[in-house]
Amino acid sequence: MNACIIAIDGPAGAGKSTVARKVAEKLGYLYLDTGAMYRVIALESIRQSVPLTDEALAALAKRTSIRFDLDGPGGNRVLSNGVDVTEAIRSPEVTRLVSQVAAVPGVRAEMVAQQQQIGRQKAVVLDGRDIGTVVFPEAEVKIFLTASVEERARRRWLEQTNKGQKASLEEISSDIAARDLADSTRETSPLRQADDAYLLDTSRLTPEEVVDAIIAYAKEHSHAV
Ligand code: C5P
Repeated sequence: MNACIIAIDGPAGAGKSTVARKVAEKLGYLYLDTGAMYRVIALESIRQSVPLTDEALAALAKRTSIRFDLDGPGGNRVLSNGVDVTEAIRSPEVTRLVSQVAAVPGVRAEMVAQQQQIGRQKAVVLDGRDIGTVVFPEAEVKIFLTASVEERARRRWLEQTNKGQKASLEEISSDIAARDLADSTRETSPLRQADDAYLLDTSRLTPEEVVDAIIAYAKEHSHAV
């Protein structure tokens, strides 16, 4: 039984990473952004011109060392083979490719094994698509975050505009819809709400309200939180 695992799943842009990070901070848990791991493999496939075959991508996942540096500048930095890729993994190119890379069974097997190893050692909040169904199906606390596509696209657009990046709401919206479709229809570990997950629609909630709701739920459902 994994008493110190909080699994947060849901589609792109539902607010998972923002709230998962805050929940972890408040509880003194580690935060593990599993989407960042798949993004690293997608980025490396571009940088190393790896052919997009299952075999080549699985081998790439095996030889890539992914690390999170919690004490780097600005907090949580993502390192791929020792190189800081925190910003690079958020590029539109990577975002467009990542679902294809994440659908490869060999890539998933490698990422899931690494995530399970971390969760066995530490109290951790993980966000992703398959945490409550595949990575830690026995977790006591599972949350499934959703929001309407319009609201999710609006949030991404705001996020990018605030960073001074040019963004088109229409493009973001269609990218999100395409990623949702790919993630929820793939054969291996599709995005799916676990039967025992708490469904939370964040469309009309502030991040603080979502964080509070998750912590209240976690305290109710796990003796360890
Ligand atoms: O969470 P984020 O949007 O950064 O995830 C990027 C992509 O990584 C998702 O669209 C999905 O294809 C993949 N992913 C996954 N399983 C996870 C986390 C992310 O397949 N646990």
